[in-house]
Amino acid sequence: MNERLLAVTAELTHRCPLACPYCSNPLALARKRDEMAGGDWARVIREAASMGCLHIHFSGGEPLARGDLDDLVEAAAEAGLYSNLITSGIGLNDTRAGQLKAAGLDHVQVSFQDSVPRSNDRIAGLKGAFARKIEAAEAAHAAGLALTINAVVHRANVEHVPEMIDLAIALGAERIEIAHVQYYGWAAENHAALLPTRAQLDRATQDVEAARMAHDGALVIDYVVPDFHAARPKACMGGWGRRQMVISPAGRALPCHAAETIPDLGFDDVRTKPLAEIWERSEAFQRFRGTAWMTEPCRSCERREVDWGGCRCQALALAGDAGATDPACELAPTHDRVLALVARATDHPSADYRYRSFSSAVT
Ligand code: SF4
Ligand code: SF4
Repeated sequence: MNERLLAVTAELTHRCPLACPYCSNPLALARKRDEMAGGDWARVIREAASMGCLHIHFSGGEPLARGDLDDLVEAAAEAGLYSNLITSGIGLNDTRAGQLKAAGLDHVQVSFQDSVPRSNDRIAGLKGAFARKIEAAEAAHAAGLALTINAVVHRANVEHVPEMIDLAIALGAERIEIAHVQYYGWAAENHAALLPTRAQLDRATQDVEAARMAHDGALVIDYVVPDFHAARPKACMGGWGRRQMVISPAGRALPCHAAETIPDLGFDDVRTKPLAEIWERSEAFQRFRGTAWMTEPCRSCERREVDWGGCRCQALALAGDAGATDPACELAPTHDRVLALVARATDHPSADYRYRSFSSAVT
């Protein structure tokens, strides 16, 4: 088998103090009572390490909402995994950063919604969030944790890319990830309010290129462009079931964050099956692994082992078939659906967000 598990994203909870309108969490959020117990998470961490996995990303929701986060960080350190806390920053201060560092945490990724405090707080849906993010990033840096700033960009903030890069440098970050919104989860609900214009995208790309030259050696700048303005899709998760696994708060093993939107896929529960067996044999991981499942035009395309046919969840959402070529690809027979969405967002932009909330949560 060519596939090897290198990274696990542990979605410890869907609880979060923020309400970002592009959140990748599913519309049906898991409740606290559905969350997997710490003992099960610790066992899964050890199993992943024994399979040769190298990284664990503690994610959510807001992982700091879990009372047992330090125990899980400790379990990861004992198992020899490089651990990364993906956080909104709310709840991270000098004391917590020191405790997590002592437990063995290696890296912190703090998200910012904008470089402008007022806009940041509006997008995050929480007043005062910007100041608390600054405190969190400073605390992580002061504690000696490696720091990445994550900036998800869209129509309301994409013109502030240079300021976000300056902010990352001022905070002592080693890396900034500037990621255009990916249109699944809550972002699909807010498409008309989020999609930037082509001109905005081009300007942001120029800004990133200029900053890379100006800050070469001082700051790593990762840049994720939106599929909807690209000619070819990205390799979603580096290819389905090739290198990564996401585990939902309730313990379901997923090939990607949004895989549960595919209704007829059978997902395994990490509480009842060994992780190695799930990785090798689970229907969810097998269905779109490799290239055998592909139809034309992917099947005979020279990029089939470059982008792996794009995103399966986007194919389902836009083409109605998770096994179809990602409609974001110009070669896809359904590409006109993406063009129509871009035209609608451009001609009839919305200024209002539907914020992420538990109102549609599973009970
Ligand atoms: S995207 Fe926003 S709302 Fe979603 S988990 Fe991250 S910080 Fe919370
Ligand atoms: S046809 Fe398929 S493999 Fe080829 S570029 Fe498009 S999505 Fe990728």
